[in-house]
Amino acid sequence: MGRHAEIAGAGFAGLCAALALLHRGWSVRLHERAPTLRNEGFGIAIHENGIRVLEALGVLDAVLERALRISRMETRDREGRTTSVHVPRSRTYRISRQHMVQVLAEAVEAQGGEIRTGSAATGALPEGRLRLKGGEELAADLVLAADGYRSAIRDGLGLLQRRITLGDGAMRLVIPRTPEERASEPTDSAVAHENWSGRRRIIVNACGPDEVYVAMSCPADDVAGQRTPIDLDAWTRSFPALSGVLERVAASADWTRVRWTRFEIIRLHRWSRERVAILGDAAHAMPPNLGQGGGCAMMNALALAVALDGGGVEEGLADWERRERPLTDHTQRWSRLYSATTFWPDWLRAAAFGITARSAYLSRMMQRTARHVPTGTADPLTSFPQPSR
Ligand SMILES: Cc1cc2nc3c(=O)[nH]c(=O)nc-3n(C[C@H](O)[C@H](O)[C@H](O)COP(=O)(O)OP(=O)(O)OC[C@H]3O[C@@H](n4cnc5c(N)ncnc54)[C@H](O)[C@@H]3O)c2cc1C
Repeated sequence: MGRHAEIAGAGFAGLCAALALLHRGWSVRLHERAPTLRNEGFGIAIHENGIRVLEALGVLDAVLERALRISRMETRDREGRTTSVHVPRSRTYRISRQHMVQVLAEAVEAQGGEIRTGSAATGALPEGRLRLKGGEELAADLVLAADGYRSAIRDGLGLLQRRITLGDGAMRLVIPRTPEERASEPTDSAVAHENWSGRRRIIVNACGPDEVYVAMSCPADDVAGQRTPIDLDAWTRSFPALSGVLERVAASADWTRVRWTRFEIIRLHRWSRERVAILGDAAHAMPPNLGQGGGCAMMNALALAVALDGGGVEEGLADWERRERPLTDHTQRWSRLYSATTFWPDWLRAAAFGITARSAYLSRMMQRTARHVPTGTADPLTSFPQPSR
């Protein structure tokens, strides 16, 4: 008889794990607390590692229907002057989150997986039972907690080692792309720019033919910076060169969907207990500076299914953590290091970014996750030149 998985959470981690398990003959039921599948944050950067996972899951072409390739990443100062440049040597895209969730969910259902919305998990028993709100208990060979950084299942099992609340956070939104912006860039790619002014930062990157993704970050004690709708004067004083973008943000963002959230780091004693595994942000939330929280969630989801292919669940989960955790730990460490620069003076931050762009060692550390060939993906998969490691 085939094996069965109950999964809590239909974000990128839960959906990718469901699909990878279905491909390997498992039956799968996903429980999503929200009444609909709706991912927060609008646009997400997916690097070569995540692209490979989507390709291995058979959904890449459909996902890229609503995406733009990032041709160049620049950091800029408050006057809009470029202070450092990174040209991705492999595939890097800004993708609509909602579209990606939809494509993954359709693929899960097409493979026979069940998705229950409005179904909240409250905990799990190590021997392989998922508890739902209302008291129902479902037995499975494998229970996956992919229920995000506030995971109730993880905490109920005593697996949380450390929750570190960082001194900064961000809000994300989209604004319509103007005809001038569209005309100034190729149809299939766009430049991403990260603008710094003091402790405030604005990332701007088109994420489709009609939309521009904007992320605005600031420290937790910056009351004006966190306000929604934005404090237009306060942000324009910090970024005079972006006054036009900021006016569009103030006028056209959907403020019912935008909230400022503080960055957190989650570390676990272990990623699993008996037949229950913790996946994605629930296991390793990190600040978004390397654009790899989702990438790690997707890589670890596929790797988990590979680790369980044919073998025992508990041994497979231990093996999975042994193989995959070092890279995730590395990614968390370097994205946290990047967060620290928020509190540096502009000149020091700009100098550090410049040095990082020129240093082979620092670039390798920052790009290690993006350049990683994830477990379960073939190599080479693309016609892009493979970066040297
Ligand atoms: C500002 C910002 C920018 C980012 N940019 C990037 C980027 O460019 N690239 C990148 O790779 N990553 C990025 N990330 C990180 C990325 O968003 C996360 O790492 C990723 O979404 C984690 O996916 P997940 O499935 O683990 O968790 P989530 O996306 O949080 O999904 C968890 C799901 O579980 C559901 N749920 C919660 N509790 C329960 C319950 N009890 N029962 C059932 N369901 C439940 C939730 O409703 C949700 O649907 C960014 C993060 C932030 C904050």
